[in-house]
Amino acid sequence: MYVVKFEDLSKSDIGIAGGKGANLGELTQAGIPVPPGFVVTAQAYEKFMDEAGINDSVMQILDEIDINDTKALQAAAEKIKSIIIEAPIPEDLVLFIREFYNELCQRVGEDDTDVAIRSSATAEDLPEASFAGQQDTFLHVSGDDEVIEYIRKCWASLFEARAIFYREENNFEHSKVYIAVVVQKMAIADKAGVMFTVNPSTGEEIALIEGSWGLGEAVVSGDVTPDNYQVDKKDNEIINVTISDKKVMYTNDENGTSVKVEVPEDMRNARVLSDEELIELTEMGKRVQAHYGEPMDTEWAFERDNLFLLQARPITTLGDAPAEEDSDVGETGDVLVKGLGASPGMATGKVKIVLDIDELDKIKDGDIMVTTMTTPDMVPAMRRASGIVTDEGGVTCHASIISRELGIPCVVGTGNATTTLEENIGVTLDGKKGLVFEGISEAKEEAPTVANVEAAPIITVTEVKANVSMPEAAERAAATGADGVGLLRTEHLMLTSGIHPGKFIADGKEDELIDTIADNVQIVADAFYPKPVWYRTLDAPTDEFITLEGGENEPREHNPMLGWRGIRRELDQPEILKCEFKAIKKLHEKGYANIGIMIPLSQNPEELKQATALCSEVGLEPHKDVDFGMMVEIPAAAIMIDEYIKIGLDFVSLGTNDLTQYTLAVDRNNEFVAKHYSEEHPAVMKLIERTIRKCAEAGVTCSICGQAGSVPHIVEKLVGFGITSVSSNADAIADVRKTVARAEQKIILDAARKRLE
Ligand code: PEP
Ligand code: MG
Repeated sequence: MYVVKFEDLSKSDIGIAGGKGANLGELTQAGIPVPPGFVVTAQAYEKFMDEAGINDSVMQILDEIDINDTKALQAAAEKIKSIIIEAPIPEDLVLFIREFYNELCQRVGEDDTDVAIRSSATAEDLPEASFAGQQDTFLHVSGDDEVIEYIRKCWASLFEARAIFYREENNFEHSKVYIAVVVQKMAIADKAGVMFTVNPSTGEEIALIEGSWGLGEAVVSGDVTPDNYQVDKKDNEIINVTISDKKVMYTNDENGTSVKVEVPEDMRNARVLSDEELIELTEMGKRVQAHYGEPMDTEWAFERDNLFLLQARPITTLGDAPAEEDSDVGETGDVLVKGLGASPGMATGKVKIVLDIDELDKIKDGDIMVTTMTTPDMVPAMRRASGIVTDEGGVTCHASIISRELGIPCVVGTGNATTTLEENIGVTLDGKKGLVFEGISEAKEEAPTVANVEAAPIITVTEVKANVSMPEAAERAAATGADGVGLLRTEHLMLTSGIHPGKFIADGKEDELIDTIADNVQIVADAFYPKPVWYRTLDAPTDEFITLEGGENEPREHNPMLGWRGIRRELDQPEILKCEFKAIKKLHEKGYANIGIMIPLSQNPEELKQATALCSEVGLEPHKDVDFGMMVEIPAAAIMIDEYIKIGLDFVSLGTNDLTQYTLAVDRNNEFVAKHYSEEHPAVMKLIERTIRKCAEAGVTCSICGQAGSVPHIVEKLVGFGITSVSSNADAIADVRKTVARAEQKIILDAARKRLE
C-alpha cells in the first residue's frame, strides 16, 4: 500500500504510516474530529528510492562521509538531497497521490484545497532525531503538482546533516530508516494550540491547555507565549487561566499562504478560549486518553466553532517531562542533548559552538554558548550568552558556578553537545532539568532576576547566606536579603581580571595585586555591609590559572583537582597569600570590619597555624582584628576537626563539593562518573554531621557553602544536625530559607510535643 486514507489506518500502522500518520488514523477511526487526509507510506518512499535507482549512489556518499567533518557532512547532505529532488517518481505512485489528493478535494468540496504536508517517523524504537525533525511541515500546499513536490521535500529531509550525524553516531543503518508523509486538509484555525491530557510533570489528572490566535504554528514554533489554562478533569472545573500578551499570529494572506502578522491590538491581551471551549477541549482530551488508555499530548484547532485535533501522541516523558508546565517548552522539538541542570531557568537562542578561545567573538547577545568546558577567559563571552551548554563537567564546575552567579541558565556534562548541536540552529535550554530542545520557545520561567529572587519575609535563627564569585553578582545576591556572604570565591574575581597573580608579583606589582583584590572585594562588602562576608583565599586549580596572562608556567598536572591548589599551594607561594591578607587589612582599615578570612582545602592543622602566622605577619591579627576560619573539604580535616579547633577557629564552612569528591574518589568535573557523585552518600553525610556536632560542642560557628547548601532537602537534614548557617546560590536562597524555617519550627514543635508526653 503506497497511499492510505486516515480512515484505513490505526495506531498499529506505524511501520507504514509513521507515528503521526498512524495516530491520525486511530483518531479518525475513533470518531474524534480530525481534518481529513491520507498518508504516503514508508513503502512508497522505498519504492521511489528503488525504482529511481538512487539507493546505491546515496549509500555510497554516506559510506564515504566523515561525520565529524562538519563541512563535508553538510556537502554530502546537500548532494543526497539534490539526488532525491531530481530523481523521477514512479508513474503509478504519482497517479496514486494525484487520485487521493483529488478525492480529498472533492470530499471537502474545494478545488486545489490547501493541505499541510508533514514527515512522519516510521519506527517506534528510533528517536525522532534519527528522522528529519518537526520543522519538515509545509503548510498551505495546494494543487497536485505542489503536493508531489513537497512530499519529495519530506523524503529528502531524511538526509539533513543532523539526521545523518545522529544515525551514524548511534549506529542506525541509513538503509533501514524509512519515512512516511502525512497530507492533511489545512484547518484554517481561528485559534489553536496544544493540550496535555494530564499534567506532564506530575501526572495529575488535569488538562493542561495552551492556546493562541490563528494557526497552531505560533504556539508550536514558540513564536508566541500562549494563554495557559488548567482544567480539573474530575468536574471540568477551570482551575487556572493565565492570559498572556500574544504578539504574533499566523494567518492566511490573500493567496492563502500562511504569514506571520501582529495580533490586532484589541486581541493581544484578550482571552483566547471561553469556559465552554475549554470544557469542550477537556472532554475531547478525556475521550482521546480513554481511547488510547494513556495520557496524550495533542495539538488542537478551532476553525470557527469546530474543534479539530491535528495530532495526538502518548506523553512519553511523564516524570521527566520536557514539556513541564512551569518550564514551558511547549511544543518545542526533540531533546537534542541531555546533561546536568547546573543553573536553573529557560533560555532560547542560536547555538554558537566555541571550540577555541579565538572563537569567542562569535557569541553575540542572546546566543547559546556551546563548548567543551568554560575557562575563566570565557567569562566576558559567557556574560553575553543567554544560555550555556558544555560537554564536560558537573554541577560544581566552572561553567556551573559562573552561570549560576550570572543568572544564566546552564546545562553541563552533556558529553556530546559540541558534536551534536549544529551551529546556528535555534534551541531552548532548560537549566533546571538539564535538557536542550530543538527550536525556539518563548520561555515563561526566566533566569532568576533580582525581582524573582526577592527575599521572603521569613526569619530564621540559622543564618541563610549567599555564595558570591563575581563582584557584579553581589547586588543581586544581596537583594535576596541573604544574611551575608558565606563564600566569596576570590579566584573567580582574580581570574576575571585576566592576569595571573604570580605575574603581578613577578613584575614587582604587588600593590596593584593588593588593589585589584581590595577593589573587587569592596564591591561585595559594600553590597552586604554590615553583614559578614567571608573572603576565601585563592583556590584555583592549575588548569584554570593556566589560561591567564602569565599563567603559561603553571604546571601541567595529571589531576588538577588533587593537585596544587588551595592553602597548600598558597603556603608554597606565601607572597600571593600575603597580598591577599594585606588587601583585607586595607579594607578593615577603611571600615569594612564585616570581612572575615577563610582558608580552603586544608588537610593538616599545621596549615592553619602557618596561615594565621602569615596573617599576623602583615599586621592583621586573626581572631582579634579579623574573623579567621577554614573550609572543611577534605575528609582529613573533618576527621581532625578537634585539632583545628584547638589551634583556633572563628568559624568553619563545609565545602561539600570537594568533600564529596575526596570522600568518594569521584572527580567532580568528570561527567563520566557524575552518576557516582552524591553529597548524600552516607559517608559524606557522616563527615558532615560529625563536623557540625564537633563545632557545636566547641561553640564554633559551622556553615556550609558547597552546592549541597542549595539543595533544600539536604539543608533540612543539616538544620537537624545543628548547623548554624547555610550559604546558598542566589537563585536557591528563597527556597532554602523556607526549608530552614520549616525545619527549625519542626524541631521546636517536636520538643514541645515531647514535653507534653
Ligand atoms: C566546595 O568545595 O564545596 C566549595 C564550596 O569550594 P569550590 O566549589 O570553590 O571548590
Ligand atoms: Mg572547594
